[in-house]
Amino acid sequence: MPSPPPYNSTAPPTQSSATLIRHSLFKFVFLLVAIFVLTSYLLVYIAKDLDRIEAQESEFHTETAVKSLEKSLVTILSDYGIWGEAYTHLHLQVDSDWAFVRENIGPTLYTDFAIDGLFVIDDLDRTVYTVIKGEMAPVEASQWLAQPALPFVERARSVADAETPISEFITINGVPALLAAIAIGPGSDPMVLPDKRLPSVLIFVTLLDNAMLDQLGTTYGVENLHIATAAEVSAGSTLALGKSGAAGSLYWTPEKPSTRLLELALPLVIFAALIVCLMTWVILRRTTIAAKAFDAGYAALKSSEAALATSEERFRDVVEASSDWVWEVDGDGRFTYLSERFETVTGLAKVSWIGKVIDDLLHTEVETISHWLSTPPRKSCLALQCHYFDDQGRERITRLSARAIASGGLRGTATDVTEEVESRRRIEFLSQHDPLTGLANRTRLQAFLEQKLSSLSAADNPLVVISLDLDRFKPVNDLLGHAVGDLVLDLVAKRLSGCVRNGDLVARVGGDEFILVLDAMGSQEEIEDLCARMIETIEQPIKVEEQEVFVGASFGIALAPNDGREVAELLRYSDIALYEAKAAGRSTWRFYAGDMNEKIIERRRMESDLRFAIKHGELRLHFQPRYRISDGEMVGAEALVRWQHPVRGLIPPDMFIPIAEDSGLIVPLGDRVLETACNHAATWPEGLFVSVNLSPIEFKRSNVVERIQNNLVKTGIDPTRLELEVTESTMLEDAAGTLETMKALKALGIRITMDDFGTGYSSLNNLRTFPFDGLKIDRSFLNRLANSEEDKSVIEAMIGLGRALSLTVTAEGIETAEHLQWLRTVSCDEGQGYFLSRPLDTQMFSALLAETDSPPIA
Ligand code: C2E
Ligand code: CA
Ligand code: CA
Repeated sequence: MPSPPPYNSTAPPTQSSATLIRHSLFKFVFLLVAIFVLTSYLLVYIAKDLDRIEAQESEFHTETAVKSLEKSLVTILSDYGIWGEAYTHLHLQVDSDWAFVRENIGPTLYTDFAIDGLFVIDDLDRTVYTVIKGEMAPVEASQWLAQPALPFVERARSVADAETPISEFITINGVPALLAAIAIGPGSDPMVLPDKRLPSVLIFVTLLDNAMLDQLGTTYGVENLHIATAAEVSAGSTLALGKSGAAGSLYWTPEKPSTRLLELALPLVIFAALIVCLMTWVILRRTTIAAKAFDAGYAALKSSEAALATSEERFRDVVEASSDWVWEVDGDGRFTYLSERFETVTGLAKVSWIGKVIDDLLHTEVETISHWLSTPPRKSCLALQCHYFDDQGRERITRLSARAIASGGLRGTATDVTEEVESRRRIEFLSQHDPLTGLANRTRLQAFLEQKLSSLSAADNPLVVISLDLDRFKPVNDLLGHAVGDLVLDLVAKRLSGCVRNGDLVARVGGDEFILVLDAMGSQEEIEDLCARMIETIEQPIKVEEQEVFVGASFGIALAPNDGREVAELLRYSDIALYEAKAAGRSTWRFYAGDMNEKIIERRRMESDLRFAIKHGELRLHFQPRYRISDGEMVGAEALVRWQHPVRGLIPPDMFIPIAEDSGLIVPLGDRVLETACNHAATWPEGLFVSVNLSPIEFKRSNVVERIQNNLVKTGIDPTRLELEVTESTMLEDAAGTLETMKALKALGIRITMDDFGTGYSSLNNLRTFPFDGLKIDRSFLNRLANSEEDKSVIEAMIGLGRALSLTVTAEGIETAEHLQWLRTVSCDEGQGYFLSRPLDTQMFSALLAETDSPPIA
């Protein structure tokens, strides 16, 4: 290929480069075509040669096959013909029984050696024994051979002394055949006496029909061996049988390796030729285009001066039309050029900045602009984000790109990206934070925790994850509206943030749920101090719209790496601990413990079992009688619920009442108890009352008055025979509401007794304010009676107090005769306890009622 004219050559090229390239390529293509034609010719030549060699080989194999057939027939014939037994039974006398029936020289020769015709000719040239295709037949040899047999017989006799057979290829009715004949001789058998007659002759004939030939060909690897047709004989490549083909010819199909070779190699050659043609075409196109461009460039050079002027003008237009401004600095980083847009965008005066150092205008957090510009690996396409203050003193963000120029300075553009960066920051913030409180959201929490956990080492303080849930927040939201709820949440968020250190994270992950992630907490005490501080801070009254709102908080704490190393694990564990803290009465905290999980599962199971139990009547009532202490008369009985669990047996109320209270199941449970208790009591003697325990939850949450009224109507029991036992905690919250409810209950005519008196809070005041009919001194006082004088005086005081307020005083937990005796001396009204009677199932209780004669206390 001729080299193109040098770019700076003064003489213009005489012929265009495109034409030159095209000419040389055409020569190249011609050469390639010649190579491919030669290759194809050689390939065909080699293939033909291979065929020729194969044909020679197959002819050799065919000859071998025919010769070995002849040899084996001659061998078999010698074996049978020179044999004393054969001489005796076929020559001395013809014994077809010996030969055929006993299969000495009979049918097996056909089946084993494919001898189609077998004849014995005696000394008088008569055919005396014939076997055709394994069957004995009365056929003359000459007749079956379709030619005189005598010539073969005489030839065989002529070589009788040599004891060898003669053999010859003949045709029998157009079918080639191999015939062999031998004069039968006794061989070296000493038992046979030869006679003087001419020897008999044994003739074997094998027909070379196509079936036989095919089998022979297969054995010797010659394909399709058969008798040649006239056309095949004239085509050549046949094997003549007998003298100059007198017995016909054989023909076969030699293999043609050329076909396979050509089939495989020719397409490859053609394919390669196609590829080369295609590539040449592509190269031709490319080089033509390049050459044309080159020619055009050459032409353009001629008019470059004129173009330069136009391009400068164009550049100016582009620069001023774009929103970016263009700058140039010299080797010292001083502005040498600023485009008109500079003033519009920055509001700064061009003249006052020309000659000033670029670093005075633009800044980045990490390095000076001139340092960035001078760092060698800086790629010209990389832009740097930097900021400056505009004429109003507002901070603006700009993206700077730079490129070295020939004069040694730099040139570049500055794109204002202030809005873009700010909206990106805003989006980023929103995606990571809770819009209401500005605290981190779950996404940020997840990332923060992951990062903290990945860098957590054994030597560090544990990482503390605290789940926090507000107590009493729901009523705020429900009663005062969501706007107030939002205010409260925002304030709580601020209070929480105020309690933690700088590197810690506070996230809001749900309505009133928060998660805190803290490190640098040394000890458990430190964590507990923080929780106490947070509870105190959160419980400070919140003033909204002239009202004070109170919320509290419960905390569940999980520690990494002790409790877990995975984010999900830690969050779940702190949540479980939170659940426990809430169950423990709120405004407190719990550390996660391994068995909490199981406890929660167990509790849930109990809860669903209990729901089933209430519906399907697994609850049982036992009744514990209450007696008047002065005369030992039974006055009534307390209904105590049990759960007949199908697997766990009888479960005491302490184990399921708290679950019922937590899950709200206490209401249907209470209904069941109340109805069953009243139904039973209705069957008791008139004077006996039944007392039923009422949970504080039931008292507060349900329409207890309506429920009890319905029950009275349903069971038809006289209201004065029903007593309700309530504990002091019932009065704790919402005193006014409780008082109203109690009054309404009293109006129904039933009695109310304060249960477990003495274990609660402001006992005395409650007794005075609320309309109680009686009080039950908690059993713990009697328990300690034996070794505590103090408890004695407390009980005495309680009895005095009851009397003063005209309440019936009942002592619980009377376990010994001494207890009873002492209570009698201090004039306690009524009593209940194991010593008097254990709680009894309904059957036993009915039995007790039946023995009216025998009073239970002496
Ligand atoms: P409670 O109201 O103080 O009931 C008295 C408890 O003291 C019963 O336990 C009773 O078997 C037991 N007791 C009776 N005499 C003696 C004694 O001499 N010595 C001792 N050590 N104990 C005695 P129980 O049946 O296990 O009930 C436990 C608590 O379960 C009850 O305490 C009550 O608060 C609650 N409860 C039972 N049934 C119900 C019910 O139907 N509804 C509600 N809300 N709570 C119930
Ligand atoms: Ca009770
Ligand atoms: Ca009690």
